[in-house]
Amino acid sequence: MSREAYQVPTVAPTPGRDAFQAGDGPAINYLCGDCNSKVPLKKGDPIRCKECGHRVLYKERTKRMVQFEAR
Ligand SMILES: [Zn+2]
Repeated sequence: MSREAYQVPTVAPTPGRDAFQAGDGPAINYLCGDCNSKVPLKKGDPIRCKECGHRVLYKERTKRMVQFEAR
């Protein structure tokens, strides 16, 4: 008789997963051109500062300006 500890890999739902949409990609940090606060944006997010609503954000790494034209 073999009594090994055999655990069936259970696919348990990870708590807090719902807040994170898988496949959305990682958030990229931008810097607001106005108030200079960090603005994490994911793909599809509107380019806008969450603090002051400014629409000119700088990519934190490249310092390339990203401008969003409101329609
Ligand atoms: Zn701002």
